[in-house]
Amino acid sequence: MYWEKEIETMDRANLEKMQAARLGETLARATRSVHYRKVFKAMKLDTDRIRTAADIGMLPLTTKEDLREQWPYGFLACSRDELIRMHSSSGTTGRATVIFHTGGDIAAWTNLLARSMYMTGMRRSDVFQNMMTYGLFTGGLGFHYGAEKIGALVIPAGAGNSKRQIQLMRDFDTSVIHIIPSYALHLSTVFTETGVDPRRDTRLKIAFLGAEPHSEKMRRKIEEFYGFKGFNSYGLSEMNGPGVAFECPEQNGMHIWEDNYIVEIIDPVTLKRLPEGEEGELVMTTLLREGMPIIRYRTKDLTRIIPGPCPCGRTHRRIERITGRTDDMMILKGVNIFPIQIEKKLMEIPGVGTNFLIILDREGYNDQMTVKVEIEREFFGGDLQQLEALRHRIVEELRSDILITPRVDLVEPDSLPKSEGKAVRVVDNRKD
Ligand code: AMP
Ligand code: ZN
Repeated sequence: MYWEKEIETMDRANLEKMQAARLGETLARATRSVHYRKVFKAMKLDTDRIRTAADIGMLPLTTKEDLREQWPYGFLACSRDELIRMHSSSGTTGRATVIFHTGGDIAAWTNLLARSMYMTGMRRSDVFQNMMTYGLFTGGLGFHYGAEKIGALVIPAGAGNSKRQIQLMRDFDTSVIHIIPSYALHLSTVFTETGVDPRRDTRLKIAFLGAEPHSEKMRRKIEEFYGFKGFNSYGLSEMNGPGVAFECPEQNGMHIWEDNYIVEIIDPVTLKRLPEGEEGELVMTTLLREGMPIIRYRTKDLTRIIPGPCPCGRTHRRIERITGRTDDMMILKGVNIFPIQIEKKLMEIPGVGTNFLIILDREGYNDQMTVKVEIEREFFGGDLQQLEALRHRIVEELRSDILITPRVDLVEPDSLPKSEGKAVRVVDNRKD
C-alpha cells in the first residue's frame, strides 16, 4: 500500500524535525548561488537564525521574474559538471524558465513519482502508457523514470496521434495512462468515432490526470467514459515537475510531499501567510534539491490546505484541487472570473460536449464574453428548438454563477482548436 511507509506515515513532529534539518542544508547550498548570495547579503540575513520550518517567513520570496533575471545559471548552487539534466517550463508567456538537475536531484524526483504512482495502486505488473510530450517539459521523462522505478512496462507514447494511442492501448494491454484531462475528453470522441469502447475493449484501470486545472465534474465525466479511476497529479517544473502533490485512493485532495517541500499558503496581495484551510497562493521551498534549490517560490497557483488527517494514513498534508492561477483570472465589468468556473458549470449540463473556448472582446467601453461550446453529436443533428433551449440553459446557468451574461455559441463537436499540451481556454482580444 505504501512505497515508503516510514516516510509517508511519519508523525508530524518527526516530519517537521526532518524539514528543519533539510532546510538548514538547503540554505547552506543556496548561498552558493549568485541569486541567493546577493539577496541574503542585501537583507543582511543570517541563515543560522532559521532553525525550524516555522521561521521560513523570514526568508525572501522567489518569483518567476527572479528566475528569468538570473537566466540561465544564476540559481545554480553547484558546478556545471555535476549537472546531468535540464528541463523547462511549458509556460506560453515570456521566456520559459529552465531548471537544472544533478544525479541526486533526478533520483529524488524519480522516487517521488514512484511513491505517487504506487500510492494509487500501480504495480510492476502494469503496462504504463505515457501520453505526455517528451522533451524539455517535465511530464514525459518525470513519469517515465518513476514508472520504470516501480518496474512497470513503460510505453513512451508521447502526446497526440489519437488513433495510434488507442491502437497501442489495445495491442499491449495498457492498464495505466498519464494524460492531460482536456486531451482525455478529446480522445473520448475518437474512441466513439472508431467504435472502440474503452470499458469493453481495453484494460485501462488507472489514469493520472494533470498539468492543467480541471473540475471534479470533469474528472467524473472522464472516469465514467473510460471506466478507470482518475487521480489528480500536480507539479511544476520549478519544483521538479509532476510528483509534487498527488491524490491517494481517497481521491479527496492531493498529498503534498512534505519531506521534499515546505508548503505555505499566502495572500497573493498582502503576501502574508494565511491560516490553515484558507485559499490563497501556494508557496513552496525545495528541501532536497542540490543543483538548483529554490526558496519560497510563488507558484501563482490557487489552492488551500485541507485541514485534518486523511483516512489513508499518510501524514503529509493535502491540498485542494487547483482552482486557477493568479494570472488566469479574467476581470470583466469588475467581476473576477476563473475559466474553471465556466468549465464546472458546462460539465453539469447534459448535451455539452468535450471542449469550449472563452473569447473576450471590447465593444466601445463594454467588455463582452463569448463562450463557444462544443455540443454532443446527437444534439447537433437535432431540431432548432432543442438547440435553442440548450443554448438558453447554458446562458442562464453561467449567468447565475459568474453574474454577467455571456454570449453563447453552440458549435459542432471537434470544431474548436485542440492542443496537444495544456488546453488554451481563453482568447483575450481586449489587449491593444
Ligand atoms: P509547467 O510550466 O509545465 O511547470 O506547468 C506547471 C503549472 O501547470 C502549474 O503551476 C499549474 O498552474 C499547472 N498544473 C499542473 N498540474 C496541475 C493540476 N493537477 N491541476 C491544475 N493545474 C496544474
Ligand atoms: Zn490520503
